[in-house]
Amino acid sequence: MIALVTGAGSGIGAAIAERLAADGHRVAINDLSLDAARATAAKITAAGGTAGAYGADVSNEAEVNAMVKAITDEFGAPEILVNNAGFGHQALFVDITPAQFDRMFAVHVRGNYICTRATLPAMLQKGEGHIVNIASQLGQVGGVELVHYSGAKAAIIGMTKALAREVSDKGVRVNAVAPGPINTPLVEALSEDWKSAKRAELPLGRFGSPADVAGAVSFLCSSDAALFVGQTLGPNSGDVML
Ligand code: NAD
Repeated sequence: MIALVTGAGSGIGAAIAERLAADGHRVAINDLSLDAARATAAKITAAGGTAGAYGADVSNEAEVNAMVKAITDEFGAPEILVNNAGFGHQALFVDITPAQFDRMFAVHVRGNYICTRATLPAMLQKGEGHIVNIASQLGQVGGVELVHYSGAKAAIIGMTKALAREVSDKGVRVNAVAPGPINTPLVEALSEDWKSAKRAELPLGRFGSPADVAGAVSFLCSSDAALFVGQTLGPNSGDVML
């Protein structure tokens, strides 16, 4: 199938793109940084896979529409969409500015909506497709100094459930993955104090790797997951014992 992975120039998105390519899919690599997208695409190509790199801000409708048209011209319309692009920002609620709040929701929530809007019609027309939304365990339990991030990730879980109800009988399965702490540049930037305290409270005692998340996405896009609809899988080292 043809897969579009957003924010795939780094971390979890790069691992998802590499895994989907290894699974035999042709992968369109999106990132805000075209250079980062190209680096992931080059790794996939070097490993014998097929990939193309596309720079676009997922919250920008014109850029996303142009990107989806370019992907469709080069490979065909995406049949798998992984809404992964995102960023972290930690601040006390009283210190979060309206501009920071808006940007958090623009990239994570609006970006999800814009990318899904640009790709879903072709999936519906074909009667087949997979959408996997990367949420976070912090959207389920709430994170300290992360009201805007937790709110945006909780929104993604709600959108996943609602869209799944609307399109699953038309052949498009929509699910989410809500990772716990994963070793990526986003988490490496957090303080050592936070990381060691967090590690100590995890039942597994360690953070996950991007490949752990990629495995969950690969599963959701496979026929093994035929009955998974509107679900949120949690590769989280036991951080959320729901
Ligand atoms: P990362 O910083 O390693 O990678 C994120 C990528 O997204 C970067 O390459 C960045 O350039 C890109 N990006 C950011 N804004 C973008 C935009 N507007 N348009 C296109 N690309 C954009 O971070 P990561 O840890 O790999 O995070 C990936 C996703 O996983 C995010 O949605 C994040 O919230 C989520 N997540 C991460 C963790 C974790 O512990 N690392 C846990 C739960 C959820």
